[in-house]
Amino acid sequence: MKDLQIICHSKRIEDTLSDASIETRLILENCLKNQQPSLSDIEKLFLTKGKDRQVVLNFADFLRNKVNGNNVTFVINRNINFTNVCYMGCKFCGFAKRSNDLGAEWLNLDEVVIRAKEASKRGATEVCIQGGLHPKLPGAYYREILIAIKKVLPKIHIHAFSPFEIWYGAKKSRMSYADFLEDLKECGLGSMPGTAAEILDTKIRKKLTKNKLTADQWIEIIKTAHRSGIPSTATIMYGHIDSPKEWAVHLDILRRIQVETGGFTEFVPLSFVHYDSPLYLESPSLVRAGATDNEIELMHAVARIVLHGFIDNIQVSWTKLGAEKSRNLLSMGVNDLGGTLMNESISRAAGSKNGQEITETEMVEIIRSASKIPIKRDTLYRKLKTYDSEISVAGHDPLVSRNGSNPLSFLN
Ligand code: SF4
Repeated sequence: MKDLQIICHSKRIEDTLSDASIETRLILENCLKNQQPSLSDIEKLFLTKGKDRQVVLNFADFLRNKVNGNNVTFVINRNINFTNVCYMGCKFCGFAKRSNDLGAEWLNLDEVVIRAKEASKRGATEVCIQGGLHPKLPGAYYREILIAIKKVLPKIHIHAFSPFEIWYGAKKSRMSYADFLEDLKECGLGSMPGTAAEILDTKIRKKLTKNKLTADQWIEIIKTAHRSGIPSTATIMYGHIDSPKEWAVHLDILRRIQVETGGFTEFVPLSFVHYDSPLYLESPSLVRAGATDNEIELMHAVARIVLHGFIDNIQVSWTKLGAEKSRNLLSMGVNDLGGTLMNESISRAAGSKNGQEITETEMVEIIRSASKIPIKRDTLYRKLKTYDSEISVAGHDPLVSRNGSNPLSFLN
């Protein structure tokens, strides 16, 4: 049966490739021979149009199927943003507040633990913890958060602290990145979000972040974490003052890091949410209002192609794109829907119109509506549950929603 599937897919991909121009076809055929696309090849893939573009999307879907079969995964988790106070002034950020601003938040350790316990009660296997770089935050607070959670929930996976937070905590603690990360690992850090990567290009980064965390520092911290046995996700934030040229460089850097460390669990493209971000509000004529649908599709598809053989999981961020677009990307190279989140405040603060939570039932329904098999996973992509097509979660018929209306009405 598996052999038959491979023959069918090979046939399908030959037919697909025959629709492409010679140039695109050559790049994709080389991928099949395990020859990595060059920077200019990657840029060309991002710029494809018409039939070529469709071939790129189909080719990404072919690779997804080859690696992940018909499975689409998700994780039950909760976001805990322990503070939104931050003085770093990243231009794209609509999340940060000053201490005296209305809506400035600070969660003490007890409040962080209460949220983690609530998440665990609702079946979360992971808590994802990130915060702003509060000027009064002691460097030790990062380890204290881990210790406090692990004391009451020793089994929960703590996915926490972006490279920018590691940079800040290490600086405040006067420790090297390696020592700081080793300590956090001992205190219970399981993995890290690879956020704050934005675009790994010095010129663009300077405009986005005033170069407070340089591309080289991001790379150094991520590599140090991987070497310390702390895996991380990999991200890109696109659709602002960037272009396919920088996307190509960014993907190439991630691919090279993965060759060296093997520490990335997945790649998550994060489309820029412009509504409340200072970057857009200050210069709307110079900054794009987020990526176009065309760019979003190509970003996920080209990432699948470029990272094939290196990073097996391409995740869509439903908080940025909403459920319907996320579902559509499941046939363009994406195999993971991310987490249920329970409280998501970073995208929302930047003006994202998508919700704070997608429940387990809804995740399963979205995946089934794309004719894929829903799989609940843990943070490190170990399978926890395959949802039998006959049996829905919590004993509900997947085709009947909780209020009896259209079961996919949450798709926007
Ligand atoms: S992106 Fe992070 S570091 Fe930058 S201003 Fe926002 S909260 Fe602060």
